[in-house]
Amino acid sequence: MKHRPISEQLYSEALQHIVGGVNSPSRSYRAVGGGAPVFMKRAQGAYFWDEDGHQYIDYLAAYGPIITGHAHPHITEAIIRAAQNGTLYGTPTELEITLAKMLKDAIPSMDKVRFVNSGTEAVMTTIRVARAYTKRNKIIKFAGCYHGHSDLVLVAAGSGPATLGIPDSAGIPISIAQEVITVPFNDLPALQTALERYGDDIAAVMVEPIVGNFGMVMPHEGYLEGVCKLARAVGALVVYDEVISAFRFHYGSAQTFNVFPDFQAIEPDLTALGKIIGGGLPIGAYGGRKEIMEQVAPLGPAYQAGTMAGNPASISAGIACLEVLQQPGLYEQMDRLTSKLAVGLRQLAKQHDIPLTVNQIVGSLSTYFCDHPVTNYDEALSSDGEQFARFFKLMLEQGINLAPSKYEAWFMTIAHTDNDIDATLEAADYAFGKINN
Ligand code: PLP
Repeated sequence: MKHRPISEQLYSEALQHIVGGVNSPSRSYRAVGGGAPVFMKRAQGAYFWDEDGHQYIDYLAAYGPIITGHAHPHITEAIIRAAQNGTLYGTPTELEITLAKMLKDAIPSMDKVRFVNSGTEAVMTTIRVARAYTKRNKIIKFAGCYHGHSDLVLVAAGSGPATLGIPDSAGIPISIAQEVITVPFNDLPALQTALERYGDDIAAVMVEPIVGNFGMVMPHEGYLEGVCKLARAVGALVVYDEVISAFRFHYGSAQTFNVFPDFQAIEPDLTALGKIIGGGLPIGAYGGRKEIMEQVAPLGPAYQAGTMAGNPASISAGIACLEVLQQPGLYEQMDRLTSKLAVGLRQLAKQHDIPLTVNQIVGSLSTYFCDHPVTNYDEALSSDGEQFARFFKLMLEQGINLAPSKYEAWFMTIAHTDNDIDATLEAADYAFGKINN
C-alpha cells in the first residue's frame, strides 16, 4: 500500500480554500469511491511524480492535450521565448496568423478561424454563430457527449429519442435547456424523428464525430454522412466538436481521418477545437465556412471577444506542438503501442474471467467492465462502475495514473514506450486478479 501523507495533507488544506479541493470536478476521486486525489509535483515525458515522491506512468495526458508528453523541449522553448517577449499584448500578432494557417491547412473546412481560451468557449460560440446565421434557436446534441460547461450543452437528458432538455446542473434555466434536444449517438432514426418534429427550429446539430466523452466511440459506418444529410435537409448547420479529436488520431481532425475504407471527409459547417492545439496552455478555436464565420464581430452581428484570446504564450505553445506532431511516424507509433495495450488488456481480462470491452482508436482507448460492445451512451452507462473504481485504485497503487472515471479515455503520448506498456500490462494482470477479492 502506497502511503501519500503529503497528498492527504494537501487535500485537507485544499478543501479549506478551494471548493471541493479541486478546480475541475473530474479531478476529484468521487466517481471512484472517494479519498484524496494524488497531488502531482512534476511531470516529464510519460511520467508523473507525486508530492510523496512516487512515480507514475501517465495515461491521463491532462484529459487529452498532452499528446507530446509532458514538458516536451520544443514546446518548453517556445513558451520560454514567448514569456521573454511578453505574454499578453491585447494587439494582433503574426503568431496568430501562423497558427490559424496551420489549422486551416490541416482542417480544410475552416475557411476562417477565431481563437478563444477553452473548448467550452469555442463550442459556446459556434452555437451563437449558428443561431445568428440560421435565425433559429434550438440545437440537437447526442446523449453522453460533453461539450464544455456552457448552459446550452450541459444537458444530457437521458437517452430516449428526441427527449426535451433537462439541465444537468443547477443554475440552468429550464427555458434554456428546452432549446436543446438530445438523441442517442449512432442512431439515425432517432435523429430523423427529432428533426421531423423540430426541424424548422434547429440551428445546429452538434456532434463529436468520434466520441471521446463516454469513452472512445466510433461512429457506425455511414453515420456521420447520415447526420450531415439529415441536418442539411432541414436547413440546420452541422457543428463538429473536435476539441478532443483534432490532432488525436492523425495530423488533422476526425473530419479528415480515414475512418472507413471508402471514407469521404464529411465537412461540417463549423468546427470547435481546443486541447492539443494549445500544446498544454489554455486555448480554444472555432472556424468554418466563410459566410457563416462572417457573422462574427467585427464583421457581423454575433459578438464574441476575449482579453486573453490569441495570447502569444498559448499560440506559441500550439504552433510548437503542431510542429512536433508533423514529424513522420508518431501516430503510427502511438497506434502500435495502444493496440498492444488494448490487445493485452483484453487477453488478461479473459484469463481472469473479467468481462471487459476495450475500444481503441489510434492513441486512445477506453475500458468498460461489461460483456457487450459500447457504441452509445446507454451501453457505456451499463458498464460496472464499481469494478472500474477497484481497478483504478489497484492500478494507481502500482504507479499507473488513469482518469478517475469509468467514462474517461486513456490517452497515449509520443513519449510512451514499449517498456511502459509492458509495465502497465503487468500492473493490469495483478489488478484483474485482485479486483473481485
Ligand atoms: N468539447 C469536448 C469534446 C470536450 O471533451 C471538452 C472538455 O473535455 C470540451 C468541449 C470543453 O473544453 P474545455 O475543458 O477546454 O473548456
